[in-house]
Amino acid sequence: MPDFKPVRGMRDLLIEETKQLNLIIRNARKVAKCYNYGEVTTPIVESHELVSAKSSDEIRNRMFTFQDLGDRAVALRPEFTASIARLVTTVLKKAPRPMRLFSIGSVYRYDEPQRGRYREFWQSNYELMGSNKPEADAELILLTNYFLKALGLKKYFFKVGHIGIIKGILDQERVAEKTQKEVLHLMDKKEYDEAFSQLKNDNVKSVLQGLVEVKGDDIFEITDEMRVQVKDYSKARDAADNLMEILKFVASSGCSIDSIQPTFSRGLEYYTGLIFEVQVPELEISLGGGGRYDRLIELFGGISTPAVGVAHGLDRINLALQIQGVEAKDQKAKKIFVIPIGEDLRIKALNIVEELRNSGLFVEFEVMGRKMGKALEYANKCKMDYAVIVGKSELKEGSVALRNLVKHEQINVKLENLLKKIQE
Ligand code: AMP
Repeated sequence: MPDFKPVRGMRDLLIEETKQLNLIIRNARKVAKCYNYGEVTTPIVESHELVSAKSSDEIRNRMFTFQDLGDRAVALRPEFTASIARLVTTVLKKAPRPMRLFSIGSVYRYDEPQRGRYREFWQSNYELMGSNKPEADAELILLTNYFLKALGLKKYFFKVGHIGIIKGILDQERVAEKTQKEVLHLMDKKEYDEAFSQLKNDNVKSVLQGLVEVKGDDIFEITDEMRVQVKDYSKARDAADNLMEILKFVASSGCSIDSIQPTFSRGLEYYTGLIFEVQVPELEISLGGGGRYDRLIELFGGISTPAVGVAHGLDRINLALQIQGVEAKDQKAKKIFVIPIGEDLRIKALNIVEELRNSGLFVEFEVMGRKMGKALEYANKCKMDYAVIVGKSELKEGSVALRNLVKHEQINVKLENLLKKIQE
């Protein structure tokens, strides 16, 4: 008998590895739940025509393609977006917008196997359909940040660009679609001379060269500089404004964007607006990436639907956690125990309980009429995370006492900040 091994680029995941993958999958599902993305399951085998329609030559040339026994040209899915677009143009055609869809599973690409690059790998994929607003773009970045932060990844950074800036220039100059693709691809690889040699117009070349050289101290300054650089191209200017708005939403929600890449285009052909990737310093490959693709649904025969999405590479996230020495854990809802000090505060305390429960926390109310010491003893025994102590003098100030039962610290917190403080 031959010595059977997995096919090149394929891996067996043994018990511990499967456990770890499942833990990351559970966390990805939790993200979907928190952001209200409904999970759908689509087939691993799709028609070759569908999955090759609008990806990129890089992916098209690396698909696992075959004829099935019925002589149909099929392929193992290289990503989820084409399958989701198929749903949105058919069975979900009339579903209310915005539509938030989540998928998770294995995808297949004939990539050259190396660390973090496999031929079968796992992705979690989130697509938001029906909104062309910058807050929708921001949501996909924030969701990615939430996922990585919740897993405990210590250091990661976001790279952001906007395909509409270069495309706006090339469109206005009526550069043929095929040449545009070539230019974007070469600029993405930083082969600028080669990219510019595809263009005839010297003015375009100098504007693009200017974009390559844009510098600034922070992301807003760089985006502003890009806007100045493309001032004669109205669509490119709009794209820079759009990028600025998205960045404002993201930054004001506490997620930092580390670099703006004026010439970034991320391989896939269907992007029309924001594009982003997340990386860790220890690996040169991205952990996840996404962007806006406003024309894909239309190209698939559906009603024109703006859309933005992201795919996370779960194997690479796992690798990054290992490299950074992080032991990922399942996220559990924080357990809170609410204690009223005195009978007349029970109603107010119960109101607080219900409000916290409505925010998805696990909350238990003191129903035994115990004094604070005894109630806290019980909360500690039950391994609660926090006690919220509702007392008269604090309440007069619109506050309660929040006791961290793990760290044994207590502070007074205004009621309107209570949830935020617990979730910190
Ligand atoms: P893409 O679908 O190309 O936007 O990729 C999304 C994410 O999938 C990337 O950021 C990677 O984390 C992951 N990924 C892509 N190709 C591979 C591969 N060959 N092996 C493992 N992960 C991959």
